[in-house]
Amino acid sequence: MIPKSHPRYESLLLRDKIAKAFEKGYLADTAMIAHGRGEAFDYIIGEQTVYPAKRAMYVAVAALLLSNNPVISVNGNATALAIDEIIELAKAINAKIEINLFYRTDERVRLLTKLYKDHGYPEILGSLDDDIEYLNDIPNNRASASKTGIYTADTILIPLEDGDRAEILKKSGKNILTIDLNPLSRTSKMSDVSIMDNIVRAIPFMTKIAQDLKTQNRDVLVEMVNEFDNNENLKESIEHIKRGL
Ligand code: ATP
Ligand code: MG
Repeated sequence: MIPKSHPRYESLLLRDKIAKAFEKGYLADTAMIAHGRGEAFDYIIGEQTVYPAKRAMYVAVAALLLSNNPVISVNGNATALAIDEIIELAKAINAKIEINLFYRTDERVRLLTKLYKDHGYPEILGSLDDDIEYLNDIPNNRASASKTGIYTADTILIPLEDGDRAEILKKSGKNILTIDLNPLSRTSKMSDVSIMDNIVRAIPFMTKIAQDLKTQNRDVLVEMVNEFDNNENLKESIEHIKRGL
């Protein structure tokens, strides 16, 4: 038990969720290291949502609301930290959710599928009985995608994605949105919209934004997306890291 008075209470709680997910068997060991890298960036930005991240979230939600087949890609980390919030966001923006693992094993996919079902979301894509296709005809797990999900999606939200996989998705011509605490990662650099924030803060915030933007005129959303410059926004995000240091 972590006492609430502990100065690193929130952070330790998240670490505990990651450790438990690993014990349950749906997280790869390297996923714990990825979490640590995220923690370090979050520490530096003061574990708060900075302005460029908020701006990117508005643009990402606008892009998701404008798309025909939006998909939220989930891995073990995202699930361990924010399963209910992800399901809520998917409902708010009318997106599908797809299991997308860097280290894909039948056992992990089975455990994750059950977890989403237990949390009231049985329609998860990327499960063992789903139709799987290969992006850009690359015949390996890095490029696998559900036929009705990521394979045919126009916009994909990829929280905490690995750089190799993000590259394959980008090359397939899709609109890529990421939530990644590391603004220097390949994923952040190659995405169309990069949100430098912790997914535990970003996902619920995006659901709130969706309620607001849903009532807006389509032209307003298009303008928001068109006016956004991801490189500029990443530079502003990095300024917050410098300030934190
Ligand atoms: P890339 O492979 O894209 O160059 P990377 O090696 O930094 O980047 P990975 O380790 O492959 O990335 O993926 C994990 C990424 O997720 C890290 O950049 C890390 O900062 C980020 N991350 C970890 N935990 C969180 C979290 N809770 N919220 C948002 N981002 C996170
Ligand atoms: Mg990487």
